[in-house]
Amino acid sequence: MNLKKSCLFPTYNKFPLTLVRGHQTTLWDDEGKSYLDFMAGLAVCNLGHVPERVKERIQEQLEQLWHVSNLFHIPVQEELAEKLVTISCADLVFFCNSGAEANEAAIKCARRYHQRVLGNNRYEIITFEQSFHGRTMATLTATGQEKVKDGYLPLPEGFVQARFNDIQSVRNSITDKTAAVMLELVQGESGVHIAEPKFVFELAKLCEKEGILLIVDEVQTGIGRTGSLFAYEQYGIEPDITTLAKGLASGLPIGAMLGKEKLREAFSAGSHASTFGGSPLPMAAGMATIEILLEDGLEKKAQQMGAYALDKLRKELKAYPAICAVRGLGLLIGIQFAEPVAPIIQKLHQNGLLVLAGGTHVIRFMPSLYVTCDEFDQAIDILKKVLKEWDGGTGEATL
Ligand SMILES: *Cc1c(COP(=O)(O)O)cnc(C)c1O
Repeated sequence: MNLKKSCLFPTYNKFPLTLVRGHQTTLWDDEGKSYLDFMAGLAVCNLGHVPERVKERIQEQLEQLWHVSNLFHIPVQEELAEKLVTISCADLVFFCNSGAEANEAAIKCARRYHQRVLGNNRYEIITFEQSFHGRTMATLTATGQEKVKDGYLPLPEGFVQARFNDIQSVRNSITDKTAAVMLELVQGESGVHIAEPKFVFELAKLCEKEGILLIVDEVQTGIGRTGSLFAYEQYGIEPDITTLAKGLASGLPIGAMLGKEKLREAFSAGSHASTFGGSPLPMAAGMATIEILLEDGLEKKAQQMGAYALDKLRKELKAYPAICAVRGLGLLIGIQFAEPVAPIIQKLHQNGLLVLAGGTHVIRFMPSLYVTCDEFDQAIDILKKVLKEWDGGTGEATL
């Protein structure tokens, strides 16, 4: 271990591991030990690590051109925008570099739409308790968790939080200033809380009736993760704005805000921009990622594997009193514990299974969408072994 003081700001509590190589769902550390990767970055490497065909597309682009300003036409950017429009309910795309930036663009777009296109004075955004939307000043204010706001006062104005899965709470939060509602269909970061279909249906209806834009944050749920290309498809709704990032370019930095045609005039030349947004390299990676996702029907694979995994987890984890619930949508799965999971996660890592917490009491399983039954069985075996050492596996949980 290197005991020298790091030159990095201490913004991360780092695991004591250095990963140096990856292939599909396997990672290797600097001592040659292999790990089953059930984090996939942070739901980023949906195609697994170093996917061959994405690598080839990046290499081609690397030979041609790395960067050109958005003041010029960038064909691969137009191509990816067209592709995203074809596979989604949206008509327009703005590219940026991260999830927070995509949500920031969504917030700006919603305010501009009301203030410049409709000519009203609406600016408030309703978000939800336990939500997560990013770390910029606006998106941390949108986030429904105190931990991301600590020490950052004063926060920007115009955000209110309603209760998740509680339509009356949304109704109570609406004022004559409400511009948009922003929602994750599965709250991933806070522990895999899944929106109820009835709630989402009523929310979409309410937004339409009140002239409020519906923004769905699919930064984590998008790109096949939940068993459909976008999670909103499973709810039978069409968001006015959808934001994407994590899985969109297989690990290169990217963000995208997708919007309906009626929002076109919300932005005019110079009203929003990003130097690196839509750069050729991430665009090439994004193009290849989407093509492969479609060719291999990965969202269907995620749906099937997710069903297999949920069923198996519920059966096999019944005997462990530390576990209170297993829930998931596709390959975004949460295992809820009665106690904080940090020490259990450490043990799982030592036993060769890389997983991540969701909130303090949930372990998230979100492997590559190519994960096999065999790999899931291995992961569950490791989890059971660690749990046995943890609490003896004597009690009876109700799953
Ligand atoms: C990760 C995440 C974000 C923030 O994305 P960054 O790329 O880290 O800025 C926003 N919303 C959701 C739902 C996320 O999971």
